[in-house]
Order: sequence, then C-alpha cells, then structure tokens
Amino acid sequence: MRNIFLAGSTGSIGKNALEVALAYPDRLAVKGIAAGHFTAELKEQIIRLNPLYCILPSRAESNKAKTALKNFKGVETKFTFGEEGLHEAVLDDAFDIVLNAISGSSGLMLSYRSLAAGKDLALANKESMVMAGDILNAAAKSSKAEIIPVDSEHSALFQCLRCGAKSDVNKLILTASGGPFYKTDKADFKRITVDMALNHPKWKMGKKITIDSSTLANKGLEIIEACFLFNMDEKQVDVLIHPQAAVHSMVEFKDGSVIAQMGEADMKGPIGYALSYPRRFNGLMKPLNLAEIGNLEFFAPDNEKFPFLNLARYALRAGKSMPAVFCEANEFFVKSFLDGKISFNKIAGNVEKVMQGHRPFKLSGIEDVIEAKRQAWSLSETLIK
Ligand code: NDP
Ligand code: MG
Repeated sequence: MRNIFLAGSTGSIGKNALEVALAYPDRLAVKGIAAGHFTAELKEQIIRLNPLYCILPSRAESNKAKTALKNFKGVETKFTFGEEGLHEAVLDDAFDIVLNAISGSSGLMLSYRSLAAGKDLALANKESMVMAGDILNAAAKSSKAEIIPVDSEHSALFQCLRCGAKSDVNKLILTASGGPFYKTDKADFKRITVDMALNHPKWKMGKKITIDSSTLANKGLEIIEACFLFNMDEKQVDVLIHPQAAVHSMVEFKDGSVIAQMGEADMKGPIGYALSYPRRFNGLMKPLNLAEIGNLEFFAPDNEKFPFLNLARYALRAGKSMPAVFCEANEFFVKSFLDGKISFNKIAGNVEKVMQGHRPFKLSGIEDVIEAKRQAWSLSETLIK
C-alpha cells in the first residue's frame, strides 16, 4: 500500500490522480490533500476520503473548511494552512509519497520540504524543478528520496532511460503537440484571445499550463526540467513537434538506437506510472491503437515564431538564478495575459526583457530561489505599469 499526500487535489492532475487512486484501492490511498481554495469539490473530497490532513494556503480559507465540515460524521481531518501546514504533513510517517500537482511557482516549497523530509516526490509541478533543480536534487540525494516525474514527456524519458546506461545516452528528444497556434501566422498572434489560447487541441489541463503550451513556454520549461531531472546539458535535449501526441518522448543512445515511449494522451498514464513505479498497474489506460492513428508526424520547431525555446536554452546556459527568473517572469506575464493586461504576442518579449535586466546570482539554498522569484516578479511589474 502506498499512502499519498496529494497537493493540488482539485486541479486537473489532482483529479486524475484521485481517480487513479480510487481505481486501485488495494495499492493506493490518498491520506492527505491540499488545494488553493475551499470549494464544493474540495468539501466532497474531504467527505469521501476523510484525509488525515487538509491544507489550504491561508488561515481564513482553512477556517472556512473547518467550519463547513465540523458536523460531518466520519470526518476526522486536521485542517492546517500555509507552508507550516505543508511542512507538518510531509514530516508525518503516514505518507510514503507526495504528489505535487500545485500549479506554478507556489509548488516550490512543497517539493523542497518533501525531499528534505525524505519523502519520494511524484512531480507534476515542473516549475519547482525549473527554479531550483540543483537544490531539489541535492535535497533528494542527502535524504535518499526519489523524484519520479509526472510530466508526460519526463515520465516517458524516465521510462526510456531504463533501457540503457546513463553513460550510453546521446540525447533526449522531447515531443510537443505544437499547441493550437502551430500553424497560425505570427502576424496574427496579436489577435489571439484568452479563449483561443485556452483551447488546447490534445490535452485538457489547468489554465497556466494551457497558455504555456500555446506559447511553447511549456516546452521551454520542459527542456530545463529535463536537464535538471536527468543531469543533461542543454545541447543534449532536442524538441520535435509531433501533432498526434502518441510518442511522449524519446531517448537516443550512443549506438544510434532510439527508444520511444508511446501511449494515449491521457495523464492517468504518467500519474499511474509514478504511483506504481517500478511496477505497473493492470488496465490503467486504453492501449494505443496505432492502426487508427495511421500516421505519426514529426517536425523541427519554429524557433522564430516561438521564441520561448531559445529563451529557455539561454536561461540554462546563463545558469544560476536565470532559470528561476525565466520561470517566474513567464508566470507573471501569463497571469497578465489571462487578466487582459497584455496581448498574447507580448508574453515572450516581456519575459526576455526581464531576463535581460536580471543579473544572475548563485543559488546556494532555497532562500536564494525565493529571492530570484521576488526580483523577477518586481522587474516584471515595472514592464506593465
Ligand atoms: P490546475 O490549475 O488544474 O490545478 C492546480 C491545483 O493546485 C488546484 O487544486 C489548485 O487549487 C491548487 N493550488 C493552487 N495554488 C495552491 C497553493 N498555494 N497551495 C495548495 N494548492 C494550490 O493545474 P494542473 O493540474 O493543470 O497543473 C498542476 C501542475 O502540474 C502544474 O505545475 C503543471 O505544469 C503540471 N502539469 C500538468 C499537466 C496537466 O495535464 N494538467 C501535465 C503536465 C504537468 P485551487 O484551484 O483551489 O486554487
Ligand atoms: Mg508535459
């Protein structure tokens, strides 16, 4: 039995993870949850799961939950809040693994605290790896915790890498569906509305990652995530546009052999793998029907139209605090776009300006990452005033 602390339980990954856990009750149990707000959905989860902990970001939100569930028979949940609450939960021996499915940079401290506490981390929150890769890896190493990627491409790479020795790897090939605007003329980017950008052709996801997929910032973040997760150089990570989203990523070995991981575009695959690893769950997903798909296409990405791939590579080469600044500035301008403050075609340019204005500094500990985040946010604010 694997006891899970599921953070971001009401989000797209969180709900899929809950479905996986409920489908394998003899193997998985969700014993703790965290979310951003107290909602009807969270209330229902608490009643259904009777978790040991329910953690919300603020005292006010936590009190709402506590009051609403006071008289429910069978609910013995402890309601806590903030970073302290998360810290208390990840220290509890009741949990074997933490699934971090919080969206954006708010997921940083949970990744760090979980690994520092020696808890295995099923990692959907790519932003934490991008911002603090070296620090998370060091925390995992010293506590002997393992990071198991949930991001579908990285789960694919993690699986493909099991086919050979690390020293025999030539490169990693990340696939990208291309998002909704792959064929749109760059001249038309300024007319892209929030609704258009939220309409992803292949994956149903939370808002932030859906916008990131439409600008290809998501693939930029994933290049950085792959370098930190698998200890690779920026030059060893390629990107291919693959509209069918059947090949989730590939590893090229030194003998020229390329190993690909394939499957339906269904996040239950990578979530289930992270929670069953190193075994697999029987009947987790519908197997891929290749005859039905017919053709698999692959194209080189258009770096001119989608500058985020090169910005991510630049962040990796600059190193130090630059990946964190890239990540946070992008989060800021995605929010600005969603709030109607900037147009779609300004997102990448603004992120680039923040990166140009940042003097990278060494990240010696998690506080330095928080400082990089703060600097990126305040520099970003000056650009939309
Ligand atoms: P969603 O926006 O759908 O869900 C985010 C979840 O996090 C919600 O439950 C939200 O609660 C919760 N949350 C937000 N802030 C906090 C906080 N401070 N403390 C605790 N919980 C919080 O996002 P997704 O599920 O799409 O994505 C989650 C992460 O997984 C992201 O990092 C994303 O990049 C990654 N990912 C997602 C994929 C997908 O298919 N969706 C694929 C690959 C990676 P509330 O709504 O109440 O604020
Ligand atoms: Mg992905």
